[in-house]
Amino acid sequence: MKNGWEAVIGLEIHAQLSTETKIFCSCATRFGDEPNANTCPVCLGLPGALPVLNRRVVELAARAALALTLQINERSIFARKNYFYPDLPKGYQISQFDRPFSEHGQLDVITAVRDEAGRVREWRPMQVRITRMHVEEDAGKNLHEGLPDTDKYSYVDLNRAGTPLAEIVTEPDFRSSWEAYDYVNHVRQVLRWVGASDADMEKGNLRCEANVSVRKVGDENFGTKVELKNLNSVRFMQRAIEYEIERQIETLEAGGRITQETRLWNEREGKTRVMRSKEEAHDYRYFPEPDLPPLVVSDEFIDGVRREMPELPAARRERFMQAYDLSFNDAAQLTSERELADYYEQAAEAAGNPRAASNWIRSELLRELEATKLNINESPVSAQELGRLIHLIDEEKISGKQGKEVLVEMFATGKGAEEVVRERGLEQVSDAGEIEGLVADVIASNPQQLAQYRAGKETLFGFFVGQVMKRSKGTANPQLVNEVLRKRLDEK
Ligand SMILES: [Zn+2]
Repeated sequence: MKNGWEAVIGLEIHAQLSTETKIFCSCATRFGDEPNANTCPVCLGLPGALPVLNRRVVELAARAALALTLQINERSIFARKNYFYPDLPKGYQISQFDRPFSEHGQLDVITAVRDEAGRVREWRPMQVRITRMHVEEDAGKNLHEGLPDTDKYSYVDLNRAGTPLAEIVTEPDFRSSWEAYDYVNHVRQVLRWVGASDADMEKGNLRCEANVSVRKVGDENFGTKVELKNLNSVRFMQRAIEYEIERQIETLEAGGRITQETRLWNEREGKTRVMRSKEEAHDYRYFPEPDLPPLVVSDEFIDGVRREMPELPAARRERFMQAYDLSFNDAAQLTSERELADYYEQAAEAAGNPRAASNWIRSELLRELEATKLNINESPVSAQELGRLIHLIDEEKISGKQGKEVLVEMFATGKGAEEVVRERGLEQVSDAGEIEGLVADVIASNPQQLAQYRAGKETLFGFFVGQVMKRSKGTANPQLVNEVLRKRLDEK
């Protein structure tokens, strides 16, 4: 970083736990329903309604905690976080405060060293301390009609009120915007992998906030921190942090001071602007929630969740590198989603060729999926069929080039590899006898070219290859054609 400055960044992630129903009532958590369709006295905050904890929330939170290396507290306490806002009908949010669900994580993350343009140069390991992960309920949503200045009505939609969230807070362990970027992507991947959250930022079920300050390298004390909100994608977050670091360094170098405040990122303008200063900051007056007992999680319960955990992405990536001799980049790409990793292993086994399966999936299959906006679970080509296609190529039944065309047709029609090869008459003729016959025919019907070739015009070899391929309608194995032709033409 320039002129001996260093950035200090901490992150908070709110991830919606992917339950069917809300955290303290049985209303659906479905996204996109009619406003206020999924509400009841509990999530509307009506007097006398009592919360009951959804067991599934605890299971998913436990999965998330274990995947993020957090220690789950045997006993955690729900607390009321008091503030007034139109989308919070009770006037408080049920959260956790001094006894959170889980604490003390040490997460290993792979981060990239990037050049000025953001291109990845190399990878290196980074350790991130996760302070805590607690569970809480989400608030509703305010919707405003018309432009800000001409607002006629504002609406409150409480469908989201009471959906379960996991709030994941780190220590200020990041020194660059890209480290923060790689960490958030890691958390997203892991939460999806273990089925704890869909972690889809577009749908708002993963949101993040960043605390950013700068200081001179070697300085023990932290600078004044600024909180960044409205970071609607991981890339926006990275850009917002980058902007904020620059802004703070410029301010300090010009002799100014940093104010402790919350700033919003405006992606269109590429700037942050002040939302509220510290003077306006909330005092939440936390106190233990009287309507809920302490949350007690037994060792047996945690062991049960642990037994059901899948092999995590980092372990699987390592295994792919060892067992299938894949590069880090290839293994990382194939383990970016659990479903893709499963698909890969099935295809590798069906093909009997893990390297080829990796190449075909990463180049051909992912391109087709990308073009049709399908995910790997929706692929019209099953892992078994891709394996068969690779097998046909390895057996030299078809060429690699033909294989690509076959895959495109399999993808478009959902037909199997052998079926497409048969229908298109592509199967390579690798039968030596059959090729001998074709070669003999071609030589017999081109006496003039044969004489010229034997008189030394060797460029005519290509002509003979072309004739044989034509006669076989392109199905002859080119390598075999070459060998047989060479032998027959050169014999006197
Ligand atoms: Zn409800």
